[in-house]
Amino acid sequence: DVVIRPVPIRKLEESVVNRIAAGEIIHRPSNALKELIENSLDAGASSISIAVKDGGMKVLQIQDNGHGIRTEDLPIVCERFTTSKLREYEDLSTIQTYGFRGEALASISHVSHLSITTKQADSECAYKATYADGKLVPAKPGGSSAPEPCAGNNGTILTAEDLFYNIRSRKDALKNIRDEYTRIFEVASRYAIHNSGTAFTCRKLGAPKADLNTLHGASTITNIRQVFGAKISNSLVEIQHKDQELQAEFKGHVSSAAHEMHKSVFLLFINHRLVDHSPIKRAIESLYTSVLPKGSRPFVYLDLRIKPEDVDVNVHPTKREVRFLNEDIIIAQIIDCIHNKLLSTNNSREFALQS
Ligand code: ADP
Ligand code: MG
Repeated sequence: DVVIRPVPIRKLEESVVNRIAAGEIIHRPSNALKELIENSLDAGASSISIAVKDGGMKVLQIQDNGHGIRTEDLPIVCERFTTSKLREYEDLSTIQTYGFRGEALASISHVSHLSITTKQADSECAYKATYADGKLVPAKPGGSSAPEPCAGNNGTILTAEDLFYNIRSRKDALKNIRDEYTRIFEVASRYAIHNSGTAFTCRKLGAPKADLNTLHGASTITNIRQVFGAKISNSLVEIQHKDQELQAEFKGHVSSAAHEMHKSVFLLFINHRLVDHSPIKRAIESLYTSVLPKGSRPFVYLDLRIKPEDVDVNVHPTKREVRFLNEDIIIAQIIDCIHNKLLSTNNSREFALQS
């Protein structure tokens, strides 16, 4: 008989562990971009410019005018679990920033060639640093790995090149660069719509014109028109609701029942995070199915704010999903609010026709 013996158990090399972990956080260029946009917003940027080559696989660059990174922090900024945002686990329940785990830059540095140029407002010059696998490396072979002084604007430029150069299977799976660019544009434009206090641009490197160009201080609806066109933005009605007891509130813009679209569009923000939340989506879709002509789909921009201690943002490595307390009650309130709005706008339209 064949005896099957166990293979010895060994501890994985740190670099292998880090690369595997990085692959779980950064699935594709658009995940990296989401993390980078959130860092720029956390840094108080009022302007964010994104430049992309080959769907972000070749180059993914983001420039902001935020507070920059302290020069003395540059050596550790790309190590795993280094953050300026969280100190104690308990802080998670009141956290006001997008970031808290200190994993994004580390992850990106493990699966791409990453460089950071950053300048604080009160600093004489900018510093440029190059990273591999969490650590500073020389920009050129044989050079020094110390951050180099250089000219630059206040704020930070992050450039990730050759994403997944060291994970071949992942790189091969992401061959459709048009599809990747679409996802990048989706993330950038959604954050642009939600953050009207920040000007966003998104362009393909070398293209004469940006695909996204929102202005600092433009209204939400102006930004929706910029991205989705006048036909959709004109069809939207505003919703708003506040629950004192749960300390939850939401507002948004949703398509009125009169307008037909062939693809659902959801821009769902929970405490400013762009998330997927299937129960909310399903509930809204089924409401619209009962109200809209057959086969047409809703457009929904929803800005939901919940007491931070009622939300768990740490359920998914990409933070793409969140859970919150009293989900059923809050979803029912969203549905009621949209339903009433649709009824009242449709009635007034009928009314207008009759009179
Ligand atoms: P986290 O956002 O969870 O703290 P990251 O790996 O995304 O972790 O970033 C690590 C740290 O680098 C942040 O805590 C922040 O201090 C700094 N940082 C990253 N991006 C920027 C930026 N665009 N501007 C200023 N500081 C930044
Ligand atoms: Mg971050």
